[in-house]
Amino acid sequence: MARFWDIFRRFRGSASSVTTKPPPNKTPQKARKVTTRKIDKIIIHCSATKPSMDIGVAVIRGWHVNGNGWTDIGYHIVIRRDGSIEYGRPMGIAGAHTKGYNRGSIGICMIGGIDKNGKSRNNFTKLQFATLRRLLRTLKADYKDATIHGHNEFSPKDCPSFNVPKWLKDNNI
Ligand SMILES: [Zn+2]
Repeated sequence: MARFWDIFRRFRGSASSVTTKPPPNKTPQKARKVTTRKIDKIIIHCSATKPSMDIGVAVIRGWHVNGNGWTDIGYHIVIRRDGSIEYGRPMGIAGAHTKGYNRGSIGICMIGGIDKNGKSRNNFTKLQFATLRRLLRTLKADYKDATIHGHNEFSPKDCPSFNVPKWLKDNNI
């Protein structure tokens, strides 16, 4: 019996030492593969808000649900000014972010994108771009056939206020 407890304690000790370690890249893991719909595009947007506006999923959900009368926030993922990730509409459900391309896409929204006069501007933080890089690498591993775009490739808009194809190339994504 003493041996049993000895082994038990040892096992429990090693198990807890594993679980207390923070998982690497914790947030992007949450974005992992959905099988309920086929994803062929990942589309990047901005919130078209000033850099001083530190908003996230809760505020945008309010705009989309109460303002637009939609069932939920239109985006699947939001990247806040501090680089943190927030999850919006469940990944398995089509979003509402790019007219004509919602069914097979994931919509990511970077908070920011206009200056104090309301003109579109690439004013995202380094932390946001670092998160975007990490997130896109995770998503690309799961959706190997998916291509990555800016909203302005599908619509005559400035969104997301930076040149996505060039950024992807510069960042080896
Ligand atoms: Zn957009």
